[in-house]
Amino acid sequence: PYERMQKIREQNIAPSLRTYYKKPLLLHQGHMQWLFDHEGQRYLDLFAGIVTVSVGHCHPKVTMATQKQLARLWHTTNIYMYPAIHEYAEKLTSLFPDPLKVVYLTNSGSEANDLAMFMARLHTRNFDIISLRGGYHGGSPYTLGLTSLTHYKHGVANGFGCTTTMLPDVFRGPWGGSHCRDSPVQTVRKCSCTEVACLAKDQYIEQFKDTLNTSVPKTVAGFIAEPIQGVNGAVQYPRNFLKEAYQLIREKGGLCISDEVQTGFGRTGSHFWGFQTHGVVPDIVTLAKGIGNGFPMAAVVTTKEIASSLAENLHFNTFGGNPLACVVGAAVLDAIEEDGLQKNSEDVGTYMLLELAKLRDKFEIIGDVRGKGLMIGVEMVTDKDNRHPLPAEEISQIWEDCKDMGVLIGRGGLYSQTFRIKPPMCITKSDVDFAVEVFCTALQRHVE
Ligand code: PMP
Repeated sequence: PYERMQKIREQNIAPSLRTYYKKPLLLHQGHMQWLFDHEGQRYLDLFAGIVTVSVGHCHPKVTMATQKQLARLWHTTNIYMYPAIHEYAEKLTSLFPDPLKVVYLTNSGSEANDLAMFMARLHTRNFDIISLRGGYHGGSPYTLGLTSLTHYKHGVANGFGCTTTMLPDVFRGPWGGSHCRDSPVQTVRKCSCTEVACLAKDQYIEQFKDTLNTSVPKTVAGFIAEPIQGVNGAVQYPRNFLKEAYQLIREKGGLCISDEVQTGFGRTGSHFWGFQTHGVVPDIVTLAKGIGNGFPMAAVVTTKEIASSLAENLHFNTFGGNPLACVVGAAVLDAIEEDGLQKNSEDVGTYMLLELAKLRDKFEIIGDVRGKGLMIGVEMVTDKDNRHPLPAEEISQIWEDCKDMGVLIGRGGLYSQTFRIKPPMCITKSDVDFAVEVFCTALQRHVE
């Protein structure tokens, strides 16, 4: 079957959809934090279907609720009332602070961000949307304008029909310890992190102000940022940056959009939403990925007033918020609560960050360990002093070795130089011990 599947992949599946690994895995099934390939080999999944499988592969509770609903009603669009849709809207919005109490359900993160931009423009009657370098907000033509990681633009698109200004460069993060960014990881060896990070913080905000004053029209429609940059490799902003940025944007008449596609649903541990860790309340929040544990669904949560800017005319999507998706979404929220997954993200995530920081102190080629909860980045460098990205082939070898020893890890950053660890939130400390041991063996092999 492997060769047959490979042939179909080559002949009938769009080549831009790339597979991971020299010999891509052919999967057979998944259970919670584990995946099994066609030969029965078991893998610890530290990438969760790109940060999507929030509560665990085929979580029994979510599976059961979905199966029940499958036999009742799948789809009607929103032209009728249906209890599961209303109950989900109530349940989801109850998790947000006032005045974020209205939800518009969509099908993907890109669609949610498209809609957020649209709402911001309609509401403010301004045009420009500001995003940050290193951010990823989607692959649709509209959101590509917000996404700064250049390789996603295929050399052409800075977003069709939109002006987006990107500010400023957080590529590779401020490299600071927990005193400069919100992470349990304490210090970076040989990095004189206090000076670097604190300097970066001031420069960062100054640069942000500067660009807002010089390169951006007097008024803007909005500002979009991830609470922790996901695709860029768990890059964290200097402390208080988002708070100051929100204030500056609001002075220019813009709305603040928090892209919680990766950071939402308890993944960062201390709070349910990433924006809460920055002490801000956005005007619009976009959700996707973990919202459905892999079921295609997404959402925009905002205020009644902002949502009303779209209400003069019909704004419609066919599948968003169908009964099946709403049942899945509600079961995911129940699982997070009943299984204590937010707390688990905090406990197990902190444990993993601290274990990885020990590896960072041991291996010269780990430049940075950062993140919060189960949103972790391990940045690979040639050495800690110059911090050039470790060459891609060397990173790939370590990554392939981890896979061969049963641990699947994601990749991210402009040079694909950062390992991304964002497992299903049900992972345990003993899974972490296994993963860290495997990673350590792969690193040891590399340096020998
Ligand atoms: N925002 C963020 C932060 C993301 O990570 C992604 C997907 N990687 C998106 C938006 C786009 O989501 P989707 O792929 O569902 O369109």
